[in-house]
Amino acid sequence: MSEPFTSVHDVVVVGARAAGAATAMLLAREGLDVLVVDRSGYGADTLSTHALMRAGVVQLHRWGLLDNIVAAGTPAVRTTTFTYADEEVRVTIKPSHGVDALYAPRRTVLDPVLVDAARAAGASFEFGTRVTDVTRDRAGRVAGVTGRDRDGRSVRHEARWVVGADGLRSVVADAVEAPIERRGTGVTAVVYGYWSGLAADGYHWVFRRDACAGLIPTNDDQTCVFASATPARIGRGGMNILHEVVRAAAPALADRVASATPPGGVRTFGGLPGYMRMPWGAGWALVGDAGYWKDPIGAHGLTDALRDAELLAQAIIAIATAGATESDALDHYHRIRNRLSLPLFDVVNTIADMRWNDDEIPGLLRQLSSAMSDEVELVARLDEQPAVNGVLL
Ligand SMILES: Cc1cc2nc3c(=O)[nH]c(=O)nc-3n(C[C@H](O)[C@H](O)[C@H](O)COP(=O)(O)OP(=O)(O)OC[C@H]3O[C@@H](n4cnc5c(N)ncnc54)[C@H](O)[C@@H]3O)c2cc1C
Repeated sequence: MSEPFTSVHDVVVVGARAAGAATAMLLAREGLDVLVVDRSGYGADTLSTHALMRAGVVQLHRWGLLDNIVAAGTPAVRTTTFTYADEEVRVTIKPSHGVDALYAPRRTVLDPVLVDAARAAGASFEFGTRVTDVTRDRAGRVAGVTGRDRDGRSVRHEARWVVGADGLRSVVADAVEAPIERRGTGVTAVVYGYWSGLAADGYHWVFRRDACAGLIPTNDDQTCVFASATPARIGRGGMNILHEVVRAAAPALADRVASATPPGGVRTFGGLPGYMRMPWGAGWALVGDAGYWKDPIGAHGLTDALRDAELLAQAIIAIATAGATESDALDHYHRIRNRLSLPLFDVVNTIADMRWNDDEIPGLLRQLSSAMSDEVELVARLDEQPAVNGVLL
């Protein structure tokens, strides 16, 4: 049997999307040798809508990537409309921290922009490789990954750190047995697709118990229409249940959707309760959904993935280039992630539970908004005051 192909790096990142490609870009920009492996292909779509919140847009702007998102034809989102309890509240996106609009790039746009930026900074990518396990040194420290490339050959990549950015059902998280620190109970299923000829004036979110829906304007003059409800209501998904839930949520919106050009098909996500995992250990760290997942009803996973990519990259850079100890720097990453995420995690979990009534939902949305504002303030300052300096403890 032939020896597996072996390479040696500072960091091997598993997963080349929002969390992984952003982490790789930031590490490579500081001169680290980074390899990213992903079982899927460059630019492939994935099961996800893609509304970015302000913190994520601020980061793309700071990283010099927002222009590429705009150049790809991603429309600016200048208002968010909330419909709940027979009220319609329209919020204008105010300019702050260098951005005056939100964006919802398709994943076929966002992920390649991040990959290209990481490549430009010197990171290497290996698409089509499926990681199957981590390797360990004699002391038990994680020291690399093994897997199979697109031709079925064994590969082995060694590194000082392995970053699991491999999303839900992370192989890295399983291999290192990362403990779950918090579990959610609320869970929604989502069915979504892309309509043409459906003008959307910014984001539109409708919150009714067991019938949420919304519009997300995106690339190619299309609007993502989604319906979200308990998994029992969404069932196997499909176009009929999407129309049924949108109509139950907001009849006027349902009429607009019905008169636009529908897609050939819709995609369905069956739902998964939230979790937060311990995000680091000897030689490994987790970022993005691999470490922390919450229900998509909050439309916040991508924004948090970008945030945690920067927090983790700062911790690794501090160890590799500034002599910080691994436990201090990665513990700091863990604490800041939790401090920012817990309020969001808990309120999203309550919304996803779908047990609220019309009187309660405005308060829950205010809690969500307040958690997001705290996050924006931190994220906007991250490049001036890296979190790992202890400033933000
Ligand atoms: C239906 C739905 C709607 C959503 N809507 C929104 C929204 O509107 N806004 C928002 O911010 N978030 C949304 N989210 C959440 C968002 O999709 C995630 O938070 C985001 O994708 C996390 O990015 P990531 O890089 O951590 O993981 P992913 O995007 O899942 O990327 C993980 C990568 O790892 C690779 N990988 C996995 N296993 C292996 C392996 N063994 N070997 C090699 N590679 C591997 C995969 O191929 C994949 O490319 C939604 C999610 C869902 C399911």
